[in-house]
Amino acid sequence: MISPLLPTYARPDVEFEKGEGVWLITRQGERYIDLGAGIAVNALGHAHPHLVEALTEQGSKLWHTSNLYRIPGGERLAQRLVDATFADKVFFTNSGAEALECAIKMARKYHAVSGHPERFRIITFEGAFHGRTLATIAAGGQAKYLEGFGPKVEGFDQVPFGDFDALEAAITDATAALLIEPIQGEGGVRSVPPADLRRLRQICDDKGLLLILDEVQTGVGRTGKLFAHEWAGVTPDIMAVAKGIGGGFPMGACLATAEAAKGMTVGTHGTTFGGNPLAMAVGNAVLDVILEDGFLEQVRQKSLLFKQRLAELKDRYPDVITEIRGEGLLLGLKLATPNGEFVDAARAQKALVVAAGANVVRLIPPLTITEAEMAEGLARIDAAAKAVSEAHKKANAGQPELAP
Ligand SMILES: *Cc1c(COP(=O)(O)O)cnc(C)c1O
Repeated sequence: MISPLLPTYARPDVEFEKGEGVWLITRQGERYIDLGAGIAVNALGHAHPHLVEALTEQGSKLWHTSNLYRIPGGERLAQRLVDATFADKVFFTNSGAEALECAIKMARKYHAVSGHPERFRIITFEGAFHGRTLATIAAGGQAKYLEGFGPKVEGFDQVPFGDFDALEAAITDATAALLIEPIQGEGGVRSVPPADLRRLRQICDDKGLLLILDEVQTGVGRTGKLFAHEWAGVTPDIMAVAKGIGGGFPMGACLATAEAAKGMTVGTHGTTFGGNPLAMAVGNAVLDVILEDGFLEQVRQKSLLFKQRLAELKDRYPDVITEIRGEGLLLGLKLATPNGEFVDAARAQKALVVAAGANVVRLIPPLTITEAEMAEGLARIDAAAKAVSEAHKKANAGQPELAP
């Protein structure tokens, strides 16, 4: 059968009919443990009762009114985000890339209204991922996403990850901001050391640049803090959020200090769908759970245990797993064997994991995963690692030994 879908995804032949917490269930009743959570989106798992209730209650009242009128749910959610973070202002979007677009425009506008329209360039870091719009592929700077899509959007400069000499050299009178993920997700679960994040903050302060954090993947409890930058004890000027904030409902947000947002006045930016009543009802419901006393604490405890168990797995299969990366429940296995093969082997064990760059496999389960479910997931990952290890041993057997 020829699919009418644009063939931009190479999907395996698997589909799900329903979800329950950390489980995805096929029509035949097969249960897969979801350690990918829709790429770190289903922060509270599938069909969380509180989210279902919020969605259905709002769904029978009012879905959409446009941003021409006040949206009380959005005012409430923005206030809660402001109360819980560095930010004074919030703009709601439908996706991560749009949250980044808002952040990029805001940084440029800030300098323009400060009398420096020439300061519009943004420095990003190798291995970054910021989305798939024309501006965000330019920001991400990855050739594989830019190839064939015409001239790269102007105004993005990229330096090697962790290279402060290159960074200092790249800053010019035209630089507006630095843009970085506290942990590169798609790039292979690469953490920015907290000391480096503090150093980036200092550089921004010294040179009058804005610090933009992309917390689309790291945010909303994923690392055991509401936002990952809290671990470093510094705050950004602008932050892009999405994925977990909607728990599966498509939504994102751009958060900023009042100063950074000062250029974003009436008419400067907009969205038809962003922040509609349905999205805001779900977003508020997600925050109800994430901000509950003790919720983030249990994410931190579970993630320590998870990381420990994964380290044991690495010791058991050193021919397959070479490194455990990441923080909280954004963890990565750096592999010696192809990551796509590992994803397939895990799926054969009915465990869903997600590939990332640098030959990494991501484990990004719902934050609500229980210890028993973690143990079940680990048993399946263990079986997958064993299968991969044995397949490679078999393939290597019979091949002549390399001369010393
Ligand atoms: C997923 C992701 C994006 C893009 O989000 P979309 O909702 O797919 O547009 C941007 N930045 C980071 C760090 C991401 O993980």
